[in-house]
Amino acid sequence: MTALAPGSTIGILGGGQLGRMLSVAASRLGYLTHIYEPGTAPAGQVCAALTQASYEDMSALQDFANAVDVITFEFENVPATALDLLAALRPIRPGTTALAISQDRLTEKTFLEGLGLTCAPFRDIGSLSALEAALTDLGTPAILKTRRMGYDGKGQVHIRTPGQAQTAYAEMQGQDAILEGYVAFEREVSVIAARGVTGEVVCFDPGENVHECGILYTTTVPATLTGAQRTDAALLAGRILNALEYVGVLGVELFVTSNGLIVNEIAPRVHNSGHWTQAGCAVDQFEQHIRAVAGLPLGDGRRHSDVVMENLIGDDMDRLPDLLATPDTQIHLYGKSEVRPGRKMGHVNRIVT
Ligand code: ADP
Ligand code: MG
Repeated sequence: MTALAPGSTIGILGGGQLGRMLSVAASRLGYLTHIYEPGTAPAGQVCAALTQASYEDMSALQDFANAVDVITFEFENVPATALDLLAALRPIRPGTTALAISQDRLTEKTFLEGLGLTCAPFRDIGSLSALEAALTDLGTPAILKTRRMGYDGKGQVHIRTPGQAQTAYAEMQGQDAILEGYVAFEREVSVIAARGVTGEVVCFDPGENVHECGILYTTTVPATLTGAQRTDAALLAGRILNALEYVGVLGVELFVTSNGLIVNEIAPRVHNSGHWTQAGCAVDQFEQHIRAVAGLPLGDGRRHSDVVMENLIGDDMDRLPDLLATPDTQIHLYGKSEVRPGRKMGHVNRIVT
């Protein structure tokens, strides 16, 4: 495929902070972006065109597709009917297969195990009796998760004793779920990797992640890993990318255990735990994704600095004056006017060396 010519338009499904940073990266490479977002759109402030319409609005989707040259997304839960309509009109990168697989935790884990990768033990839960049987099988503690639409720890219930099955099941409110055995991990890391249109694969260095209340709080690079673990992380990311014939950036969340790396989940898009690349690499994850989607050669992915990325969540914004005065600190704000508890308002990248 020939690379997208300068001045072409990249359509982005989803107008949150990820879409915003993708849009900025695209404009640096001479492209225009058109954002499609049903709700509030921080990305709408930095794009050439914005469509605010629902993912059920077939006529708005059709107009959007006709106005762009290629389509990508920052949000993986776009309904299948919308994707089918869009895919008939324009290339979607990464493909609709990657999206369909990662929209459902059961399909995702089945796919990952099919590649020979290790996941937490899991069971499909369609009823209370299935949950009770699975708890007998996997033991406690365990985590019940909705199969679809979960993020930032939402849609999850920790089960500490078998007696909690009924209340946990009620919390799923009839949604399909999976039960996962608890992984006693040493640390959590993620690897952000990219695959280009010609099949080349580039991995960023794994980052070490700390969550608070289910939300990512910090990512530190380099992560505390052995050389063998680093190699494993890159190889398994490459295997996933190739299997999906993927084009773009993929985030892979991993648990580090004494028995090796366990894949927690994959995100078919740029990832919060990859924001450190903005200060640590010449080509960050956003430019890397746009390069892939536009059919350009990928950047090298090499890390030139150690970085600590910290999310600014809710009231963390009160620390802004201090952060602005801190040396070697890059500040990214998402243009959201209303501060709410748990809302990601921005992040900072502190260069450590
Ligand atoms: P989300 O889509 O909300 O990010 P995750 O499946 O990544 O959902 O779970 C959020 C966090 O919960 C993980 O980063 C990890 O800290 C913890 N967690 C999830 N699954 C397990 C598990 N099977 N064992 C131990 N901890 C888990
Ligand atoms: Mg996660």
